[in-house]
Amino acid sequence: MALEEYVRKRSFAQTPEPKPAPTEQRARPSKLHGGRYFIQRHDATRLHYDFRLEIGGVLVSWAVPKGPSLDPAVKRMAAHVEDHPLDYGDFEGNIPEGNYGAGSVMLWDRGVFEVIGEMPAEDQLKRGEIKFRLLGEKLSGEFVIVRMKGRGKGNEWLLIKKKDDGAVPGWDIEDHAWSVSSGRTQQEIAQNMPAKKARRKTAGDTSRTWISSRPAAARSKAATTAKTAAAPRKAKKKALTSKG
Ligand code: MN
Repeated sequence: MALEEYVRKRSFAQTPEPKPAPTEQRARPSKLHGGRYFIQRHDATRLHYDFRLEIGGVLVSWAVPKGPSLDPAVKRMAAHVEDHPLDYGDFEGNIPEGNYGAGSVMLWDRGVFEVIGEMPAEDQLKRGEIKFRLLGEKLSGEFVIVRMKGRGKGNEWLLIKKKDDGAVPGWDIEDHAWSVSSGRTQQEIAQNMPAKKARRKTAGDTSRTWISSRPAAARSKAATTAKTAAAPRKAKKKALTSKG
């Protein structure tokens, strides 16, 4: 759990990505059995999704070429990459040409996760298999991420949805290619177009406002959210419980 590699790869005078706070100013590692999670859609040399779990005071990260899936029949390759600072979670924007990871970054999903089982998240990571439950804006339910043994450089894991109420056979990630932060598409982010909806500060805040013309699938999601907003106290309590 260290950020040296993250810092070494970047030139903070040139990239809008966050520079980690000095060690002594960083948030204490959470003792909660879970934390926040973030997924970014990153149109770099190759399009991929960056899947990040808050563990031990950093964002433990995997690059997932095809992105996560809600279909339990699908196993997604996930390359374990360097830890990122917690501040990176909300990052959305453009990394300039010539810099590490140059390209547009979309905040694709965010929420909280709860570790499944008694074993702390750090120990599950070390053994190469971590089970967790997501409560996010696009993803929900149980997942496992497991290291593949005896393959390549040893950084190859698989991200798999477990069968539960959150499972959606045939789920297609391309039906959900918009930012949970700004409502923008990847192209709109790349072109620095303005946000289409109000930014929200926390995963438990149901006060978001949708002002864009979206595809039907996204509109029905907005309608669902509006229904949820009718019981904001319940939604908030659920988010907090899940975090603990
Ligand atoms: Mn990336």
